Amino acid sequence: MPSPDFVVRAPYVVTCDDAMTVIEDGAVAVRDGIVAAVGPAGAVPSDGAELIEAAGRILMPGLVNMHCHAGDSLFRGLVENLPLEPWLETVWKAERAILDPAACRLGAELGLAELLLSGVTTVMDMFWFPEETVRAAKALGIRVATGGIFFDPPGMDGHLADRRLADAAAFFDAVEDEPLVFPGCLPHGTYTVSPEHLRSAGRLARSRGGFFSTHAAETVAEQATVTGRYGRRVIAHLAEHDLLGPDVVLAHCVHLDAAEIGLLAASGTHVVHNPLSNLKLASGFAPVPALLRAGVNVALGTDGAISGNDLDLWLAMRLAATLHKAVTGDAAAVATHEALAMATKNGARALGASDRIGSIEAGKAADFILVAIDKPHAAPLFDPVAHLVYSAGRGDVTDVFVAGRRLVESGRLLTADVAALVAGVNALRPAIAAAIA
Ligand SMILES: [Zn+2]
Repeated sequence: MPSPDFVVRAPYVVTCDDAMTVIEDGAVAVRDGIVAAVGPAGAVPSDGAELIEAAGRILMPGLVNMHCHAGDSLFRGLVENLPLEPWLETVWKAERAILDPAACRLGAELGLAELLLSGVTTVMDMFWFPEETVRAAKALGIRVATGGIFFDPPGMDGHLADRRLADAAAFFDAVEDEPLVFPGCLPHGTYTVSPEHLRSAGRLARSRGGFFSTHAAETVAEQATVTGRYGRRVIAHLAEHDLLGPDVVLAHCVHLDAAEIGLLAASGTHVVHNPLSNLKLASGFAPVPALLRAGVNVALGTDGAISGNDLDLWLAMRLAATLHKAVTGDAAAVATHEALAMATKNGARALGASDRIGSIEAGKAADFILVAIDKPHAAPLFDPVAHLVYSAGRGDVTDVFVAGRRLVESGRLLTADVAALVAGVNALRPAIAAAIA
Protein backbone atom coordinates (compact mmCIF):
# COMPACT_ATOMS: atom_id res chain seq x y z
CA MET A 1 0.00 0.00 0.00
CA PRO A 2 1.42 3.46 -0.86
CA SER A 3 2.07 5.58 2.21
CA PRO A 4 -0.76 7.89 3.32
CA ASP A 5 -0.71 11.68 3.22
CA PHE A 6 -1.59 11.79 6.91
CA VAL A 7 -2.91 9.63 9.73
CA VAL A 8 -5.24 10.72 12.54
CA ARG A 9 -5.20 8.77 15.81
CA ALA A 10 -8.04 9.11 18.29
CA PRO A 11 -9.14 7.32 21.46
CA TYR A 12 -12.43 6.47 19.70
CA VAL A 13 -13.30 6.17 16.02
CA VAL A 14 -17.09 6.03 15.62
CA THR A 15 -17.32 4.73 12.06
CA CYS A 16 -21.11 4.84 11.48
CA ASP A 17 -20.69 1.77 9.25
CA ASP A 18 -23.60 -0.67 9.00
CA ALA A 19 -22.63 -2.37 12.28
CA MET A 20 -22.07 1.06 13.93
CA THR A 21 -18.55 -0.13 14.77
CA VAL A 22 -16.65 1.87 17.39
CA ILE A 23 -12.87 1.39 17.39
CA GLU A 24 -11.09 2.15 20.65
CA ASP A 25 -7.63 3.65 20.22
CA GLY A 26 -8.22 3.84 16.48
CA ALA A 27 -6.64 5.51 13.49
CA VAL A 28 -7.64 6.70 10.04
CA ALA A 29 -5.14 6.97 7.18
CA VAL A 30 -5.92 9.44 4.38
CA ARG A 31 -4.48 9.50 0.88
CA ASP A 32 -5.63 11.77 -1.97
CA GLY A 33 -8.70 12.80 0.01
CA ILE A 34 -9.84 9.21 0.50
CA VAL A 35 -9.82 7.01 3.61
CA ALA A 36 -6.99 4.58 2.81
CA ALA A 37 -7.34 2.58 6.02
CA VAL A 38 -9.27 2.60 9.29
CA GLY A 39 -8.72 0.33 12.27
CA PRO A 40 -6.94 -0.05 15.59
CA ALA A 41 -4.03 2.38 15.77
CA GLY A 42 -1.52 -0.50 15.76
CA ALA A 43 -2.87 -1.76 12.45
CA VAL A 44 -2.75 1.61 10.66
CA PRO A 45 0.92 2.55 10.37
CA SER A 46 1.74 6.15 9.54
CA ASP A 47 4.81 5.11 7.49
CA GLY A 48 6.46 8.45 8.11
CA ALA A 49 3.37 10.44 7.03
CA GLU A 50 2.13 13.38 9.10
CA LEU A 51 0.58 12.05 12.30
CA ILE A 52 -2.26 13.99 13.94
CA GLU A 53 -2.71 12.92 17.55
CA ALA A 54 -6.36 13.68 18.31
CA ALA A 55 -6.05 13.08 22.06
CA GLY A 56 -9.31 13.63 23.93
CA ARG A 57 -11.35 13.48 20.71
CA ILE A 58 -13.88 11.21 19.03
CA LEU A 59 -13.27 10.89 15.31
CA MET A 60 -16.54 10.43 13.43
CA PRO A 61 -18.02 11.09 9.97
CA GLY A 62 -18.96 14.65 9.12
CA LEU A 63 -22.67 15.31 9.66
CA VAL A 64 -25.03 15.39 6.68
CA ASN A 65 -27.73 18.10 6.89
CA MET A 66 -30.36 17.15 4.33
CA HIS A 67 -32.66 20.18 4.47
CA CYS A 68 -31.43 23.75 4.77
CA HIS A 69 -31.84 27.24 3.39
CA ALA A 70 -28.40 28.62 4.30
CA GLY A 71 -29.02 32.02 2.72
CA ASP A 72 -32.02 32.55 4.97
CA SER A 73 -29.56 32.98 7.84
CA LEU A 74 -29.68 36.69 6.95
CA PHE A 75 -33.18 36.76 8.48
CA ARG A 76 -32.36 34.90 11.69
CA GLY A 77 -34.68 36.00 14.48
CA LEU A 78 -36.68 38.38 12.29
CA VAL A 79 -40.11 36.74 12.49
CA GLU A 80 -41.26 34.95 15.63
CA ASN A 81 -44.28 33.27 17.18
CA LEU A 82 -46.29 32.64 14.00
CA PRO A 83 -47.42 29.38 12.35
CA LEU A 84 -46.07 28.48 8.92
CA GLU A 85 -48.46 30.25 6.56
CA PRO A 86 -48.50 33.84 7.99
CA TRP A 87 -44.84 33.37 8.94
CA LEU A 88 -43.98 32.54 5.33
CA GLU A 89 -45.76 35.67 4.08
CA THR A 90 -43.54 37.87 6.27
CA VAL A 91 -40.41 35.92 5.40
CA TRP A 92 -41.11 36.30 1.70
CA LYS A 93 -41.67 40.06 2.10
CA ALA A 94 -38.21 40.41 3.66
CA GLU A 95 -36.61 38.12 1.08
CA ARG A 96 -38.18 40.01 -1.82
CA ALA A 97 -36.79 43.31 -0.56
CA ILE A 98 -33.26 42.14 0.18
CA LEU A 99 -32.23 39.22 -1.99
CA ASP A 100 -30.03 39.84 -4.99
CA PRO A 101 -27.12 37.59 -5.97
CA ALA A 102 -24.68 39.41 -3.66
CA ALA A 103 -26.99 39.12 -0.65
CA CYS A 104 -27.61 35.45 -1.39
CA ARG A 105 -23.85 34.84 -1.55
CA LEU A 106 -23.39 36.62 1.79
CA GLY A 107 -26.24 34.68 3.41
CA ALA A 108 -24.94 31.40 2.04
CA GLU A 109 -21.43 32.10 3.37
CA LEU A 110 -22.88 32.90 6.80
CA GLY A 111 -24.98 29.74 6.89
CA LEU A 112 -22.32 27.46 5.47
CA ALA A 113 -19.69 28.83 7.87
CA GLU A 114 -22.03 28.06 10.77
CA LEU A 115 -22.56 24.55 9.41
CA LEU A 116 -18.87 23.79 8.92
CA LEU A 117 -17.97 25.03 12.39
CA SER A 118 -20.62 22.67 13.78
CA GLY A 119 -19.25 19.64 11.93
CA VAL A 120 -21.59 19.46 8.94
CA THR A 121 -19.60 18.40 5.87
CA THR A 122 -22.50 17.93 3.40
CA VAL A 123 -25.66 20.01 3.16
CA MET A 124 -28.71 19.95 0.90
CA ASP A 125 -29.71 23.55 0.33
CA MET A 126 -32.77 25.09 -1.33
CA PHE A 127 -32.50 28.81 -2.05
CA TRP A 128 -32.74 31.57 -4.60
CA PHE A 129 -29.70 32.03 -6.87
CA PRO A 130 -28.30 28.54 -6.13
CA GLU A 131 -25.21 29.34 -8.20
CA GLU A 132 -24.30 31.79 -5.40
CA THR A 133 -24.67 29.00 -2.85
CA VAL A 134 -22.26 26.95 -4.96
CA ARG A 135 -19.75 29.83 -5.05
CA ALA A 136 -19.95 30.16 -1.29
CA ALA A 137 -19.64 26.38 -0.80
CA LYS A 138 -16.59 26.20 -3.07
CA ALA A 139 -14.93 29.06 -1.22
CA LEU A 140 -15.55 27.40 2.14
CA GLY A 141 -14.89 23.80 1.02
CA ILE A 142 -18.17 22.17 2.13
CA ARG A 143 -20.07 19.63 -0.02
CA VAL A 144 -23.42 20.99 -1.19
CA ALA A 145 -26.46 19.43 -2.83
CA THR A 146 -28.48 22.13 -4.55
CA GLY A 147 -29.98 23.22 -7.84
CA GLY A 148 -32.72 25.17 -9.53
CA ILE A 149 -35.64 26.24 -7.39
CA PHE A 150 -39.18 26.01 -8.85
CA PHE A 151 -41.88 28.41 -7.65
CA ASP A 152 -44.96 29.48 -9.61
CA PRO A 153 -45.65 32.94 -8.12
CA PRO A 154 -43.09 35.69 -8.85
CA GLY A 155 -39.95 34.57 -7.00
CA MET A 156 -38.04 36.40 -4.31
CA ASP A 157 -35.17 36.47 -6.82
CA GLY A 158 -37.38 38.61 -9.11
CA HIS A 159 -37.69 35.74 -11.60
CA LEU A 160 -40.95 34.44 -13.08
CA ALA A 161 -41.95 30.80 -13.40
CA ASP A 162 -41.38 30.64 -17.15
CA ARG A 163 -37.57 30.69 -16.81
CA ARG A 164 -37.22 28.21 -13.93
CA LEU A 165 -36.77 25.09 -16.06
CA ALA A 166 -34.11 26.66 -18.29
CA ASP A 167 -32.28 28.03 -15.23
CA ALA A 168 -32.38 24.62 -13.57
CA ALA A 169 -31.01 22.95 -16.72
CA ALA A 170 -28.23 25.56 -16.92
CA PHE A 171 -27.36 24.82 -13.31
CA PHE A 172 -26.65 21.16 -14.15
CA ASP A 173 -24.32 22.28 -16.97
CA ALA A 174 -22.56 24.81 -14.77
CA VAL A 175 -21.61 22.34 -12.01
CA GLU A 176 -20.84 19.30 -14.18
CA ASP A 177 -17.18 19.30 -13.17
CA GLU A 178 -17.59 20.34 -9.55
CA PRO A 179 -16.52 17.39 -7.37
CA LEU A 180 -18.18 18.75 -4.20
CA VAL A 181 -21.57 19.57 -5.75
CA PHE A 182 -24.58 17.23 -5.99
CA PRO A 183 -26.97 18.82 -8.50
CA GLY A 184 -30.73 18.39 -8.43
CA CYS A 185 -34.08 20.16 -8.81
CA LEU A 186 -35.83 21.73 -5.81
CA PRO A 187 -39.43 22.82 -6.32
CA HIS A 188 -40.69 24.68 -3.26
CA GLY A 189 -43.78 22.55 -2.64
CA THR A 190 -46.95 21.01 -4.07
CA TYR A 191 -49.00 24.05 -2.98
CA THR A 192 -46.73 26.61 -4.68
CA VAL A 193 -45.78 24.69 -7.86
CA SER A 194 -48.25 23.32 -10.43
CA PRO A 195 -48.33 19.62 -11.34
CA GLU A 196 -47.00 20.49 -14.79
CA HIS A 197 -43.97 22.33 -13.36
CA LEU A 198 -43.37 19.63 -10.74
CA ARG A 199 -43.32 17.03 -13.51
CA SER A 200 -40.89 19.01 -15.65
CA ALA A 201 -38.60 19.46 -12.64
CA GLY A 202 -38.76 15.71 -11.99
CA ARG A 203 -38.05 14.85 -15.61
CA LEU A 204 -35.08 17.21 -15.73
CA ALA A 205 -33.63 15.83 -12.49
CA ARG A 206 -33.96 12.23 -13.73
CA SER A 207 -32.57 12.97 -17.18
CA ARG A 208 -29.46 14.46 -15.54
CA GLY A 209 -29.06 11.83 -12.83
CA GLY A 210 -29.81 14.37 -10.09
CA PHE A 211 -32.07 14.36 -7.05
CA PHE A 212 -35.55 15.86 -6.70
CA SER A 213 -36.36 17.50 -3.38
CA THR A 214 -39.35 19.45 -2.13
CA HIS A 215 -41.22 20.40 1.04
CA ALA A 216 -44.03 17.88 1.57
CA ALA A 217 -46.83 17.34 4.08
CA GLU A 218 -45.40 19.91 6.49
CA THR A 219 -48.67 21.25 7.89
CA VAL A 220 -52.36 20.41 8.24
CA ALA A 221 -53.18 23.50 6.16
CA GLU A 222 -50.91 22.29 3.32
CA GLN A 223 -52.64 18.90 3.25
CA ALA A 224 -56.04 20.66 3.16
CA THR A 225 -54.96 23.00 0.33
CA VAL A 226 -53.57 20.21 -1.83
CA THR A 227 -56.50 17.87 -1.15
CA GLY A 228 -58.97 20.66 -1.93
CA ARG A 229 -57.21 21.57 -5.16
CA TYR A 230 -56.37 18.12 -6.54
CA GLY A 231 -58.57 15.68 -4.63
CA ARG A 232 -55.53 13.84 -3.27
CA ARG A 233 -53.30 14.15 -0.25
CA VAL A 234 -49.76 15.47 -0.81
CA ILE A 235 -47.88 12.16 -1.07
CA ALA A 236 -50.54 10.62 -3.32
CA HIS A 237 -50.36 13.76 -5.45
CA LEU A 238 -46.60 13.31 -5.84
CA ALA A 239 -47.11 9.61 -6.64
CA GLU A 240 -49.73 10.50 -9.27
CA HIS A 241 -47.10 12.63 -11.04
CA ASP A 242 -44.34 10.02 -10.79
CA LEU A 243 -42.48 12.08 -8.18
CA LEU A 244 -41.66 9.41 -5.63
CA GLY A 245 -38.64 7.12 -5.76
CA PRO A 246 -35.08 6.53 -4.54
CA ASP A 247 -33.99 9.81 -6.17
CA VAL A 248 -36.62 11.82 -4.26
CA VAL A 249 -35.98 13.58 -0.95
CA LEU A 250 -39.02 14.98 0.88
CA ALA A 251 -38.53 17.52 3.65
CA HIS A 252 -40.80 17.34 6.73
CA CYS A 253 -43.52 14.67 6.09
CA VAL A 254 -45.18 15.63 9.39
CA HIS A 255 -48.79 14.88 8.44
CA LEU A 256 -48.99 11.45 6.82
CA ASP A 257 -51.67 8.80 6.87
CA ALA A 258 -50.92 5.08 6.71
CA ALA A 259 -51.42 4.97 2.95
CA GLU A 260 -48.87 7.76 2.45
CA ILE A 261 -46.31 5.99 4.67
CA GLY A 262 -46.91 2.90 2.52
CA LEU A 263 -46.30 4.89 -0.68
CA LEU A 264 -43.05 6.34 0.68
CA ALA A 265 -41.80 2.91 1.78
CA ALA A 266 -42.78 1.07 -1.41
CA SER A 267 -41.16 3.71 -3.63
CA GLY A 268 -37.91 4.05 -1.67
CA THR A 269 -38.51 7.79 -1.20
CA HIS A 270 -36.32 9.47 1.43
CA VAL A 271 -37.70 11.66 4.23
CA VAL A 272 -35.89 14.51 5.98
CA HIS A 273 -36.98 15.10 9.56
CA ASN A 274 -36.62 18.71 10.79
CA PRO A 275 -37.73 18.48 14.41
CA LEU A 276 -36.79 21.97 15.58
CA SER A 277 -38.54 23.72 12.69
CA ASN A 278 -41.64 21.53 13.24
CA LEU A 279 -41.65 22.39 16.94
CA LYS A 280 -41.10 26.12 16.57
CA LEU A 281 -43.63 26.64 13.76
CA ALA A 282 -46.09 24.39 15.61
CA SER A 283 -46.27 22.14 12.52
CA GLY A 284 -46.56 18.96 14.56
CA PHE A 285 -44.69 15.73 15.23
CA ALA A 286 -43.50 13.72 12.23
CA PRO A 287 -44.32 9.99 12.54
CA VAL A 288 -40.63 9.08 12.54
CA PRO A 289 -40.92 5.75 14.42
CA ALA A 290 -43.67 4.60 12.02
CA LEU A 291 -41.56 5.65 9.03
CA LEU A 292 -38.53 3.77 10.37
CA ARG A 293 -40.63 0.66 11.08
CA ALA A 294 -42.02 0.81 7.54
CA GLY A 295 -38.46 0.82 6.20
CA VAL A 296 -38.34 4.44 5.05
CA ASN A 297 -34.89 6.03 5.05
CA VAL A 298 -35.11 9.05 7.38
CA ALA A 299 -32.37 11.70 7.36
CA LEU A 300 -32.12 14.92 9.37
CA GLY A 301 -32.27 18.59 8.55
CA THR A 302 -32.07 21.91 10.33
CA ASP A 303 -34.32 23.80 7.90
CA GLY A 304 -33.36 27.48 7.67
CA ALA A 305 -32.14 29.69 10.49
CA ILE A 306 -35.25 31.77 9.97
CA SER A 307 -37.48 28.96 11.24
CA GLY A 308 -35.07 27.43 13.76
CA ASN A 309 -32.81 30.43 14.45
CA ASP A 310 -29.66 28.37 14.03
CA LEU A 311 -28.36 25.51 11.86
CA ASP A 312 -27.60 23.03 14.62
CA LEU A 313 -27.82 19.44 13.39
CA TRP A 314 -26.67 18.20 16.82
CA LEU A 315 -29.86 19.64 18.28
CA ALA A 316 -31.88 18.03 15.47
CA MET A 317 -30.25 14.69 16.29
CA ARG A 318 -30.97 14.98 20.02
CA LEU A 319 -34.58 16.01 19.36
CA ALA A 320 -35.01 13.14 16.89
CA ALA A 321 -33.73 10.77 19.56
CA THR A 322 -35.91 12.16 22.35
CA LEU A 323 -39.18 13.74 21.27
CA HIS A 324 -40.63 10.61 19.64
CA LYS A 325 -40.12 8.73 22.89
CA ALA A 326 -42.43 11.21 24.61
CA VAL A 327 -44.92 11.37 21.73
CA THR A 328 -45.30 7.58 21.51
CA GLY A 329 -44.76 6.72 25.18
CA ASP A 330 -42.06 4.27 24.07
CA ALA A 331 -38.55 4.93 25.42
CA ALA A 332 -37.12 2.87 22.55
CA ALA A 333 -39.07 4.69 19.79
CA VAL A 334 -35.90 5.98 18.09
CA ALA A 335 -32.81 4.03 19.19
CA THR A 336 -29.55 5.83 19.91
CA HIS A 337 -27.75 4.33 16.92
CA GLU A 338 -30.72 5.18 14.67
CA ALA A 339 -30.46 8.86 15.63
CA LEU A 340 -26.73 8.93 14.83
CA ALA A 341 -27.38 7.15 11.52
CA MET A 342 -30.02 9.76 10.66
CA ALA A 343 -27.42 12.52 11.09
CA THR A 344 -24.77 10.76 9.00
CA LYS A 345 -25.18 7.75 6.74
CA ASN A 346 -28.94 8.05 6.16
CA GLY A 347 -28.29 11.47 4.64
CA ALA A 348 -25.61 9.98 2.41
CA ARG A 349 -28.08 7.29 1.33
CA ALA A 350 -30.75 9.92 0.56
CA LEU A 351 -28.22 11.58 -1.74
CA GLY A 352 -27.40 8.30 -3.45
CA ALA A 353 -23.87 8.76 -2.13
CA SER A 354 -23.55 5.88 0.34
CA ASP A 355 -20.53 4.64 -1.58
CA ARG A 356 -18.69 7.93 -0.99
CA ILE A 357 -19.78 9.61 2.26
CA GLY A 358 -21.69 9.08 5.53
CA SER A 359 -19.32 6.66 7.27
CA ILE A 360 -15.62 6.13 7.93
CA GLU A 361 -14.68 3.19 5.70
CA ALA A 362 -11.73 2.49 3.43
CA GLY A 363 -12.37 3.79 -0.06
CA LYS A 364 -14.80 6.53 1.02
CA ALA A 365 -14.10 10.25 1.06
CA ALA A 366 -12.15 11.51 4.06
CA ASP A 367 -15.03 13.62 5.43
CA PHE A 368 -14.66 13.45 9.18
CA ILE A 369 -14.73 15.57 12.31
CA LEU A 370 -13.12 15.58 15.74
CA VAL A 371 -15.36 15.97 18.79
CA ALA A 372 -13.83 16.93 22.14
CA ILE A 373 -14.44 14.53 25.01
CA ASP A 374 -12.01 16.11 27.46
CA LYS A 375 -14.87 17.99 29.12
CA PRO A 376 -17.04 17.48 32.21
CA HIS A 377 -20.13 16.57 30.17
CA ALA A 378 -18.17 13.72 28.54
CA ALA A 379 -17.11 11.99 31.75
CA PRO A 380 -17.46 9.15 32.37
CA LEU A 381 -17.74 7.85 28.82
CA PHE A 382 -19.36 4.41 28.75
CA ASP A 383 -20.77 4.57 25.24
CA PRO A 384 -19.37 7.02 22.64
CA VAL A 385 -22.51 6.71 20.46
CA ALA A 386 -24.81 7.60 23.38
CA HIS A 387 -22.48 10.48 24.24
CA LEU A 388 -22.65 11.89 20.70
CA VAL A 389 -26.46 11.66 20.58
CA TYR A 390 -27.43 12.75 24.11
CA SER A 391 -24.55 14.83 25.56
CA ALA A 392 -22.38 16.26 22.81
CA GLY A 393 -23.12 19.44 20.90
CA ARG A 394 -21.73 21.61 18.19
CA GLY A 395 -19.49 23.46 20.63
CA ASP A 396 -17.54 20.22 21.01
CA VAL A 397 -16.51 20.09 17.34
CA THR A 398 -12.87 21.12 17.09
CA ASP A 399 -11.73 19.98 13.63
CA VAL A 400 -13.44 19.34 10.31
CA PHE A 401 -12.06 17.63 7.22
CA VAL A 402 -13.75 17.40 3.81
CA ALA A 403 -12.15 15.18 1.17
CA GLY A 404 -9.05 15.10 3.37
CA ARG A 405 -8.76 18.90 3.48
CA ARG A 406 -8.74 20.45 6.94
CA LEU A 407 -11.33 23.24 6.94
CA VAL A 408 -11.67 23.78 10.69
CA GLU A 409 -8.69 23.52 13.03
CA SER A 410 -9.07 23.82 16.81
CA GLY A 411 -12.42 25.56 16.35
CA ARG A 412 -11.17 28.05 13.75
CA LEU A 413 -12.57 28.11 10.21
CA LEU A 414 -9.56 28.22 7.89
CA THR A 415 -11.43 29.04 4.67
CA ALA A 416 -13.25 32.26 5.60
CA ASP A 417 -12.63 35.50 7.47
CA VAL A 418 -15.43 34.98 9.99
CA ALA A 419 -15.11 38.44 11.57
CA ALA A 420 -15.42 40.14 8.18
CA LEU A 421 -18.32 37.89 7.27
CA VAL A 422 -20.23 38.74 10.44
CA ALA A 423 -19.49 42.46 9.95
CA GLY A 424 -20.84 42.26 6.39
CA VAL A 425 -24.04 40.62 7.59
CA ASN A 426 -24.52 43.13 10.38
CA ALA A 427 -24.09 45.98 7.89
CA LEU A 428 -27.17 44.63 6.09
CA ARG A 429 -29.22 44.43 9.26
CA PRO A 430 -30.92 47.87 9.11
CA ALA A 431 -32.11 47.27 5.53
CA ILE A 432 -33.50 43.86 6.53
CA ALA A 433 -35.32 45.28 9.54
CA ALA A 434 -36.75 48.11 7.39
CA ALA A 435 -38.03 45.57 4.83
CA ILE A 436 -40.77 44.30 7.14
CA ALA A 437 -41.40 47.51 9.05
ZN1 LIG B 1 -37.52 24.27 4.35
